[in-house]
Amino acid sequence: MELNVVSAEQTTGIEDHIPNRLEPAQNDYFAPYWRKFRRDEFWRSIPSWHDVSERVFLDAMWQEQNAVINRERLERLVGPLVDPSFLDDATEGMKRAPMAMRISPYIISLINWAGPISDPLRRQFLPLGSEIEEDHPLLGLDTLGEQSDSPVAGLTHRYRTKALFLPTSTCPVYCRFCTRSYAVGTDTEEVAKVRLGAGRERWKNAFDYVAEHPELEDIVVSGGDAFRLKPDQLKTIGDALLDLPNVRRIRFATKGLAVQPMKIITDRGWLNALTAVSERGRYLRKEVCLHTHFNHPNEITGITEDAAGLLFERGITVRNQAVLLRGVNDGDDCLVDLGRRLSTLNIHPYYTYLCDLVTGTEDLRTTIARGISLEKIVRGTTAGFNTPTFVVDTLGGGGKRDVHSFEYYDPDFGLAVYAAPSVKPGKFFISGDPLRDLRQDVRDVWQNPATRTELIDNVLKNICHHC
Ligand SMILES: *Cc1c(COP(=O)(O)O)cnc(C)c1O
Ligand code: SF4
Repeated sequence: MELNVVSAEQTTGIEDHIPNRLEPAQNDYFAPYWRKFRRDEFWRSIPSWHDVSERVFLDAMWQEQNAVINRERLERLVGPLVDPSFLDDATEGMKRAPMAMRISPYIISLINWAGPISDPLRRQFLPLGSEIEEDHPLLGLDTLGEQSDSPVAGLTHRYRTKALFLPTSTCPVYCRFCTRSYAVGTDTEEVAKVRLGAGRERWKNAFDYVAEHPELEDIVVSGGDAFRLKPDQLKTIGDALLDLPNVRRIRFATKGLAVQPMKIITDRGWLNALTAVSERGRYLRKEVCLHTHFNHPNEITGITEDAAGLLFERGITVRNQAVLLRGVNDGDDCLVDLGRRLSTLNIHPYYTYLCDLVTGTEDLRTTIARGISLEKIVRGTTAGFNTPTFVVDTLGGGGKRDVHSFEYYDPDFGLAVYAAPSVKPGKFFISGDPLRDLRQDVRDVWQNPATRTELIDNVLKNICHHC
């Protein structure tokens, strides 16, 4: 048994848990540790799953049925491993979060329950009351303005040639920081969601819209998650889009490879449906690929290696879109390790997003300055084509912008301004660093609506003088 990732067995408490980093195996210190994937039966450290065999754990259905969706299930599984106060903290977190909870057994088993507070996987999926920070005044639900750029329910047409189609509103897990908190997941105490069910009628309206807009050539089928589509649904969507002569590229987006990789191995119906769409696309000289969402090296195991291997064998290009999250992957080495691990699996790191300005996620956000410094650290550590572009998805629908391409950025004020000439020419889009990283007097400026408006107006006025 070879362990290269921090696990419950290796760790005795928070003190000696090193977040954000893979630990090189002691006996193999100079070997490239990012190339080794754990193959132990790690789920057996959860008492209720002590007797779960590999065959059962790899069953995609079992993973679905045993997802943790409420406090009762969480308590049953990890109650014996954690302090009771931790469960109370989690209950408080769930009450106040805009996202419903859903955590796959795969992820539950990879969390270090001896030190859950600092665990990078726990932080992404299980909110704690004690870590919630007051929202930055720019935070909201749907701050990217996806709904106002949607001509048809569940189809966002922001970029001239590209559209985003949301086929369903469910995912194999729910991420605390999801941009689509307005629609994805079940209702929470805080948020009643916009309904976007997997209805064929709604899909047909979206396909008709794409057909009527010949400039559209690139369709992102995204969150809700392609893993939650049945094989025939995946095939229906793929075929309908491939039938349109203007559509040249389709991407199916799924978090699944990162949180439930065994589905690729054991749900052959699903893999075959994806392969069939991909092969038909290849015959038509159109690209069909998979976009996924790994954020931390601990999410990658031997099971992931096998799943990614199968996709590669079938000629399906896989790209990764990570989110930069404080206390998850904002350490110096984490994204380097992640990029190298993904490269080993033939998954191309494509984007690293700064965390969107979503209600209830202030504690997960980092500054733009941190995004820029991490990009410097990452570039050069693996192949250039496996090096992600660090992007900010701007408030109000300017779209994705390279973090470095700001018109203005003052880390002291925590304010950045971007232009997006290809999306909304002549307009400026702002973004704000987390308040915690600003001086108290600047924080006061942000928290007062009048001085905040004055600060933003002044900056925008000066930018216009230069152009
Ligand atoms: C991200 C996104 C796309 C795809 O953009 P790429 O930069 O090509 O990955 C398309 N539409 C919307 C609304 C998006 O947010
Ligand atoms: S998998 Fe994607 S769409 Fe689903 S909750 Fe996470 S970030 Fe949102």
